[in-house]
Amino acid sequence: MIRVKVMYVFILLLITLGSCDPAKKAWNNFNLFPVEDDVELGKQVSNQIESDSKNFPLLPERGNEEVYKYIRSMTQEILNSGKVENRDKFAWEVKIVDDPETKNAFVTPGGYIYVYTGLILFLDEADDLAGVMGHEIAHAAYRHSTAQMTKLYGVDLIRQVVTGNTESGLIGQIAMSLTSLSFSRFHESQADAASVKYLCETRYNAAGAASFFEKIEGQPQPPAFLSTHPSPKNRVEAIKEEAKERKCSTRNARNTDFNRVKQLLK
Ligand SMILES: [Zn+2]
Repeated sequence: MIRVKVMYVFILLLITLGSCDPAKKAWNNFNLFPVEDDVELGKQVSNQIESDSKNFPLLPERGNEEVYKYIRSMTQEILNSGKVENRDKFAWEVKIVDDPETKNAFVTPGGYIYVYTGLILFLDEADDLAGVMGHEIAHAAYRHSTAQMTKLYGVDLIRQVVTGNTESGLIGQIAMSLTSLSFSRFHESQADAASVKYLCETRYNAAGAASFFEKIEGQPQPPAFLSTHPSPKNRVEAIKEEAKERKCSTRNARNTDFNRVKQLLK
């Protein structure tokens, strides 16, 4: 009898989760991983990235102070929007990967963000870059990366990494997989909408992610970014619509500093 009751409650729960929108959202963001582990996993993966200059040739801080200052102050402005989930729990560090051929950006769990020089050089507007940063921040803030990683490797294996009980090599594999870890279309829509929500409180065009995707989707050869961030239906329109609904400003910010940073990277 008890078993029947439990089963009944479970079925009811599934029906509830599947039927109304906010609950469906919760279901899609269901994550078996405790949030503290995002922080630890991110720390370990970022250490691995720093020590692997072959796969991740990081732009040295020395001699590139202005470039780093620019991208970090842009990130800070987005983080200070007051809208970022887990703002105070995660590290939110930004590093630049010195690879002008690659138009990509990715984020580890716990908020370590990596932006490729190829992506910065490719973009025309500071707002486009802010749109990408907002989108990446959202993937970490909503913990999409751990959700995808636990799907790929299983919770147990990821937990072993966090507790340090793992064979060497796995963490390297995980770091590499982050550059090709693709999100679901649901996660993509959520990150797009969050990007608008964050940017709305900054001086950047709240729909910056729209012009970014317009530009990158117009490429004859789809860049790495697109294979890991699959396009939800009507992506560009949905971002613009979100900005309109939230009554955000869609005026472009000035490009003076952005253009200077691009010059420095050339
Ligand atoms: Zn994405």
